[in-house]
Amino acid sequence: MVISGHTRLAGVIGSPVRHSLSPTIHNAGFAAAEIDARFVAFPVEAGHAAEAIDAMRTFDLLGLSVTMPHKEAVIAACDRVTERARALGSVNCIFRDGSDVVGDSTDGAGFIKGLQSELGFDPSGTRCAVIGAGGAARAVVLALADAGAQRIEVINRSADRGDVAVALAPSVARRGNVADLGAVDLVVNATPVGMADTPHSAAAPFDVSVLSKGTVVSDLIYHPSETPLLAQVRARGLGNQNGLAMLVFQAAVAFEHFTDSAAPVDAMMSAARKAIAP
Ligand code: NAP
Repeated sequence: MVISGHTRLAGVIGSPVRHSLSPTIHNAGFAAAEIDARFVAFPVEAGHAAEAIDAMRTFDLLGLSVTMPHKEAVIAACDRVTERARALGSVNCIFRDGSDVVGDSTDGAGFIKGLQSELGFDPSGTRCAVIGAGGAARAVVLALADAGAQRIEVINRSADRGDVAVALAPSVARRGNVADLGAVDLVVNATPVGMADTPHSAAAPFDVSVLSKGTVVSDLIYHPSETPLLAQVRARGLGNQNGLAMLVFQAAVAFEHFTDSAAPVDAMMSAARKAIAP
């Protein structure tokens, strides 16, 4: 599509940000939906998030995705934030609603949509375990609780962060341990254990022999596409997915905020797959 005076702009702010897959995913979405817009990466150093939001207003951008180190700092610069972003203290998507600049956190909704779409898993009434208690884990705990999970075991190395994650959903979440994994329907790995190019790339966060038949495993890592954990889960014949679905579906939620149009998820997914293929 030709760039003209009508072409709109969206982007992602962060530092570093040049490696981000967001431009690839969103531009594939704009092209498939025939929306006259482009999505670019804006390197923005720590401490300059508010200026980036001012620029969004000045240039009438469609919206901004937000990555490290700005996910907390942008909150003060928004006119309002959604309830889930407020609860998590984190914003990864900023969009216009009338004259307001609104901050949202789309990771949790993206995770749930990816679970449903790829594994046909509906969290309502299920027993879940989340390993880790960082930003991704907290978004997943809140989203699983909102989607009706009956119980959520939060299994984390350090107790204090585990408690913060539990406090997001106090009626269903509690601190758990690996022994609980035999009695859950879903296990989510929200630690970097198994991620490529890290000291623990060859490790799995737990021994899959503890899992029961019927348990499904979602590893939020997408590089590599099959972590040691997922290889072991596959060998046991259990349902599983990597983090690509969450990545693409959280972008799809953002796309809908930016454009008020349904996200062409298949096109966005295939662009993401192509970009990370070895
Ligand atoms: P984070 O905020 O740094 O949190 C990492 C969590 O993992 C912490 O709870 C930490 O425990 C735990 N952890 C780290 N190293 C560990 C180890 N060696 N053994 C056991 N636990 C360990 O990171 P994050 O942003 O939540 O990201 C977590 C993972 O999710 C990463 O792999 C990231 O790539 C992935 N992710 C995927 C998506 C997606 O769209 N697919 C989105 C966001 C994140 P402590 O609290 O004890 O330090």
